Amino acid sequence: MPVLRPAVDKTVNSEGGLLELLKQLPRELRERRNREVSAWKRPTRDLRRLLKHDYVHSLRRSLSYAQVRKLVRAFQEIFPSFNACSLSMMSDGDFQELTGRLGVHCKAAPYVEDNGMALRGFYVANSSGLLKYPLIFVNTAHHRLAAMTTFVHELGHHVACQRLRLDPEPVHFFFDAAYADHLGEPAELAADVMVSLAGYPQDTAREIFASDWNWGLVARAENLPEAAFKEVRRHLKRAYGFDLPLEQMSDSQRLHYLTGMIHYAKLRWALLAEYDL
Ligand SMILES: [Zn+2]
Repeated sequence: MPVLRPAVDKTVNSEGGLLELLKQLPRELRERRNREVSAWKRPTRDLRRLLKHDYVHSLRRSLSYAQVRKLVRAFQEIFPSFNACSLSMMSDGDFQELTGRLGVHCKAAPYVEDNGMALRGFYVANSSGLLKYPLIFVNTAHHRLAAMTTFVHELGHHVACQRLRLDPEPVHFFFDAAYADHLGEPAELAADVMVSLAGYPQDTAREIFASDWNWGLVARAENLPEAAFKEVRRHLKRAYGFDLPLEQMSDSQRLHYLTGMIHYAKLRWALLAEYDL
């Protein structure tokens, strides 16, 4: 895998610099980005795949209970009330302050050019040999909650790299069209598990997914029951002031956010059903 020029630490400091960084990426990663942008232009495909997906099966296959517990403990060192309360809404300044304490570089900036909205963010581990310090990029052109979700996802990569050595790729991109792909990749799923637990703490998850049925069986079902989805919306509105549809949003963007909502909710359900978290 070719190594990026060391100037990358400086070039990422502007939107133009970010474009430069993306251009410098190894060919394999650039091709992957092109594939993801194409997928992003067909938002219903990812949604259809997620609706049918058995999350319990993916969770069991990709991450053990012990691994998830380890990640939760690591996040509780950063956020003491993690999985007890919803993580409070965070600003760009909060991202900087937090990553500064962890020895991670963070760049939060809007990126819309060249189909930039497809990109939510990325994480570069220092073990990749590309950078001196780990780097988190968050595309703040997205809604505040989406930007925070990206931040927690990338932070999840950092923690998973450090605690579980889950870092098979030099750069982890987060595209708004790749949720279904995350389910088969332990590093991506680990990062998403942290997002799910951050947004839906245990008591909230128990309320949302309250059911007389056997959770394990129900969580395998194709769709979220309507009642559960209503509770998901109510919770996001109460905790983060977020609800769909948002004003001035394209149909395609709305579909991506809806897909994200369903993905994190189904994952949260699987965590409760399978690992009682
Ligand atoms: Zn990722």
